[in-house]
Amino acid sequence: MLYGVDIGGTKIAFGVFDEHYHCLEASQHATPAHDYAAFLELVTGLVRSADQRLGGQGRVGVGFPGVLNADQRILAPNVPAIHGRDLLGDLRRRLKRPLHGDNDANCFLLSEYHGGAVAGSRLALGLTLGTGVGGALIHDGRLVNSRRGGSGEFGHGAIGAGLLTRYPDLPLFDCGCGRSACLEAYVSGTGLARLYRHCGGPERDGKAIVAAWQQGEAEAGRCLELYVEVLAAGLGALMTQLDPDALVLGGSLGEAPWLYDRLAARLPAYLMQGITPAPVCSPVFGGAGGVRGAALLAARPDSPFSMEA
Ligand code: BGC
Ligand code: ZN
Repeated sequence: MLYGVDIGGTKIAFGVFDEHYHCLEASQHATPAHDYAAFLELVTGLVRSADQRLGGQGRVGVGFPGVLNADQRILAPNVPAIHGRDLLGDLRRRLKRPLHGDNDANCFLLSEYHGGAVAGSRLALGLTLGTGVGGALIHDGRLVNSRRGGSGEFGHGAIGAGLLTRYPDLPLFDCGCGRSACLEAYVSGTGLARLYRHCGGPERDGKAIVAAWQQGEAEAGRCLELYVEVLAAGLGALMTQLDPDALVLGGSLGEAPWLYDRLAARLPAYLMQGITPAPVCSPVFGGAGGVRGAALLAARPDSPFSMEA
């Protein structure tokens, strides 16, 4: 049996999968944002109770936000409970079994590659638009990665001059990584809320902003237009530099049906002349991609830093 754990800034998803990567059980739990002991307790409890229900020890894969530093500690400022912690090592010692881990966006793309939206693409890119913005690449069926899991941190590339020329009053938002003007600061869930305030809207979350737009509110309309523009500029830069065969969007905003046509219309403005835009695909596994990808990692650990007990 395969268990996937997908750690997010607001929720932890847990899933049990069979050897064909079909989901047998899935659950979601609030992330203990600041309490590492509670965090470990929650994840080990989920694994142990699944073992008991299923009558055996499952293999565990973990998708985590951020990258590992030289001591295998996670650098994930968006999730303070695990920031600076040896999460994979601590889980492995508690669960007493091999454990496989990789960046959450890598897990998402792995899942969309195996039977999903970008199956069979020679060079596939993934971008997750959630609490943070994650990125990943698969080439010839393998995740492209360094020893630290940091390859493809597309969310922390700066927005380009092309965008600022078109929108000179666009503020340089600070990013959780300690710098400013990162793509994540504009196109994550919190980025969307900031863009909305920039457009004159009140404090609201992403869902409420989309609902306001559907009711015809002008501020929400301007905000979503700007959101698409920033994302198109980010994807245009990626496509120009990497020329992928396909790109899939994930995270809560990757499931937004209003996004795709608008994005396709604005992308050409940000591409090098002559570059054919890659298809931008919506995810086949929706929000469950990350947890399925984590389970896939446990089944076929091809991450350079997957941990074996
Ligand atoms: C992190 C990425 C992560 C993404 C989504 C970003 O802030 O830098 O590593 O994949 O958030 O969780
Ligand atoms: Zn950043």
